Amino acid sequence: MHSHFRKICSECDKVIEQCRCMAANKTITYVICEDCKAKKLLINKGEKLFVEFQLGMNGSFYTSFFRAAMVVDTINSHKLYEGFPEEIEAVRKFKNEDGYWEELQERYNISLKA
Ligand SMILES: [Zn+2]
Ligand SMILES: [Zn+2]
Repeated sequence: MHSHFRKICSECDKVIEQCRCMAANKTITYVICEDCKAKKLLINKGEKLFVEFQLGMNGSFYTSFFRAAMVVDTINSHKLYEGFPEEIEAVRKFKNEDGYWEELQERYNISLKA
């Protein structure tokens, strides 16, 4: 017996593929669609600078900036965020999201080859 299936993008909820029937009990599998995959591979300027900070490659401004951003409290980080949203977002994700740093380094390495 065939099993009913539906493949949905875990990022944008787009239905990528499904069996051609009307069954309500389709087994849902989450994958990432090509568009989201491409988007995920992009690295923004702030993330790039953050990786370079971790690698000790920044100039003095961003070295001081990220050193401060790594230790500021929430209120001050909001202030910094206004001027440097991408940079602060990268620091926040680094502190809070498991696997972000590994994934960011991968994107950074891909961006160097592009
Ligand atoms: Zn089916
Ligand atoms: Zn998607």
